[in-house]
Parts: sequence; C-alpha cells; structure tokens
Amino acid sequence: MPPPRTRETTSALRHRLAELRGPDVPAKALDARALAALAANPGCKRRALLDGAGVNKTVLADALGSPSAFGQSQFAFMRGNAFEARVKADGGAELLRLVHERLDPSAEPPSGAAVPDLAAMGPEGRAARTALALREATEGGGWALLDHPMLALEVAGSPAFLEPDAVVVHPDGTWTVVEIKSFPMLDGSADPAKVGAAARQSAVYVLALEDVAARLDQVPRVRHRVLLVCPKDFTNLPTAAVVDVRKQRAVTRRQLTRLTRIEEIADALPPGTCFAPDLPPEQLTAAVELLPATYAPECLAACELAFHCRARARREGAVTSLGRSARAELGGLTTVDDVLAAAHGTAGDPDDPAVAALRRAARLRAEALSAAGYGAGAALPDRAGAVPEGAPCR
Ligand code: SF4
Repeated sequence: MPPPRTRETTSALRHRLAELRGPDVPAKALDARALAALAANPGCKRRALLDGAGVNKTVLADALGSPSAFGQSQFAFMRGNAFEARVKADGGAELLRLVHERLDPSAEPPSGAAVPDLAAMGPEGRAARTALALREATEGGGWALLDHPMLALEVAGSPAFLEPDAVVVHPDGTWTVVEIKSFPMLDGSADPAKVGAAARQSAVYVLALEDVAARLDQVPRVRHRVLLVCPKDFTNLPTAAVVDVRKQRAVTRRQLTRLTRIEEIADALPPGTCFAPDLPPEQLTAAVELLPATYAPECLAACELAFHCRARARREGAVTSLGRSARAELGGLTTVDDVLAAAHGTAGDPDDPAVAALRRAARLRAEALSAAGYGAGAALPDRAGAVPEGAPCR
C-alpha cells in the first residue's frame, strides 16, 4: 500500500498534473460517465493519467489528428435539458411522485417536500453544502429533493466531483439516486445498452453517496435501487423504471480500488512531458505514446482517444485490437505476428496450451482446405488478416 498523502504531497501532485496539462490549460473535471468508463478499463494507464490530470481528451484527440466520434449533438443536449426541467418543475412534484410510487409507496405522499438551496463557491464548497443538506434532510424525517447535488469521490488518489441529476431523501432517512435521461421508454422498456450505461453511471453516484453517508454519526442507508426517469413512448411525459445497481456498484468499487495511483504513472514520465493541445502533433503523439495503453474494441464506446489508440494497436499488430476474449485465449502471445508464427510452427513453446491450440487449428484448417481442393499452402491468412488468393472465403 502506498503511504497516505500529506498536504505537501497533494499539493506537489496538483502542481505536477497542472504541468502535464500545459500552461494555463484548465482541468476538465471527471464526471460519472467518465468514471464508469474508466472503471471499465482499469488497466489503461493512459486513460487513468489523462483523466486524473484533467486533460480534455476530446481536444487532445483532435490535436492528435484522430477526432473522437463522441458527444451529444446540440439538439440532443437541449432536448435533454428541456425534459429534465419538465421533470423537476413545481419543486420536483412529478419526480417525487414517481419516487414515491415506484420505490416507497407505503410512505406518506411527498407533498411539501424540502428542496434545499445547494449553491456554494466551487466544487469543494458545493460538496460540503450537499453533505450538510443531506444530513439536515435525513434528521428532518420528511421528503427532500436535492437538485444537482455535488458529491466527491476519491479516484486514484484524487477527488473527483460528481453531479447526479437528483438525490431524494425518504422519510425513513434512506437516500435514492435519480437519473434523468432523454432516451425514450417504449412500452415500459428502453434500449438495454443505454439503460446499462445509466446503471453504471448511477452506481458511481451510489458509491459517492455511501462515502458521504459513512461520515455521518447515524449512517443512513443508500438505496441500491435507483430511479431512471425517461420520456414515455414518443411523448415528452415522464415515466420511470427502477434499476437495481448492486452488481454495477460492486464491479465499479472493485475496479476503482484497483486503479493505479496516478502519481506513480506521472513519476514514470520524463521531466518536461506535456499534453497541451497547442503542441505540434508529433510532440503530442510522442508524449501520449509514453503512457502505456490497453486498447480493446470496447474503448470505441467509452473513450475519446479510441481512434488514436486503435490505429496504434493495429500498426503494432497488438492482439488486444481483436477483443478481450481473443486476448485472454492467446495467453503470452501479444502480437498477430507471434500468433501466426506459433500457428505456422516457426515459434512458440509447443507445451504452451495457446500455441498447441493454434497449431491444431492450423492443421485442421489445412486439412479442410486440402479436402476442398485448395492445397495446404493456402492455409493461413497474412498478417493483415487477408484471405489468400484461391482460398474459400467463409
Ligand atoms: S482508447 Fe486508449 S486511452 Fe482510452 S481507454 Fe482505450 S486504450 Fe486507454
């Protein structure tokens, strides 16, 4: 276990991370979406350091010449904001009605719920104000709606500030995360991929709330069933579904604790390394390449640098670009060249189960091609995966 941080080491780390971002480049705050994605690829030091340093990866990807295909359109953004405003209108009456109906029907109806003012200076001030409001609402014993509270969660040794759409305090003192999304719920169900992403994001909020709760004398229970509010069918009317995030919470907790502390990654970088987007592309590319990456096709749905990392992984013939399951099956063979050499019998330990399986597969393929009249010489694709001329393409 690394030693705990002191005020001096924390300040030194902040200074180092600011240097890595570049002079006068503001830090981009980590949000729950980024944290959920970070937890999905905990072995990637590149992402861990860039996110921990507050580097804007969208801007970085542009500067590297591999723009990300990420982000919401302006129209989707405005539609989402309009829907959220509607859900929270009249002191959150509709939102509270849905929480009462779906999660706590035996409690008193939520009329006259408290909506505390959470305004404060800076994220630290807002997080402190939120913690105070949660404590007061819990002690008050009624319904309370916290609109865009600010929560702090320590990630890789640094605080990340997170802003859920809402947190509701129930009369029994329990807390519920509410996530408002603008994708539709058709006949009571929504796109499973979108619901899954919302669940992972909510799990991050649940973890952050549990940290707040743990600091109170009487530790309140944070509910692991969150409320997902979406437009009903093709209307703008809100409807809601309860999502159990216990599994996502457990996975995210485990992954976040496994994240390498970012100062260890920063310490391994040579002095003068900088990710400022106005640097020449070659210099920026060299700086990014100093950070070890673990590209997988899943990055395409989760990280702004995916196109850059995919191009590098392909150029290096890294088997990670084939997907995590193929990577796991191939054991110590890390490049496509190694795999082909092992299959051809020109390299690799024959006692290695992966090498033995590759040779068996190559033999079976050669036999099948031979039986089909194509000859054993046409047995394997080349490094780029092209099927040899004359071989059947199945
Ligand atoms: S795209 Fe690159 S930086 Fe992002 S998580 Fe994947 S490997 Fe890491």
